[in-house]
Amino acid sequence: MTKCPLCETEMTKEPREIEKGVWVAVEVCPQCKDEWIDETDHDRLVDLFKRKTFNLGGSIAVRIPKEIADALSIKEGTEVNFSIKNKNIIISKATA
Ligand SMILES: [Zn+2]
Repeated sequence: MTKCPLCETEMTKEPREIEKGVWVAVEVCPQCKDEWIDETDHDRLVDLFKRKTFNLGGSIAVRIPKEIADALSIKEGTEVNFSIKNKNIIISKATA
């Protein structure tokens, strides 16, 4: 168990959904109600969603991480929309 950096009370670990379908363990201080994300969990999340683009029939392709696909019920054949926002690619599920 780790102690709260502020008041040194023993913290409890709880699962927390930081984004839809993305769960990390957070440490909660019962005293000041502050939440601290586990460092290793944070690193795991960054690695988890890092993907390399590859060539597929002359197009640039990228695999959608299983965790994200599952969270949004994206399967083979699901239609998605691409858009650009602040120089980032937004992939959203097309609404039927
Ligand atoms: Zn505290």
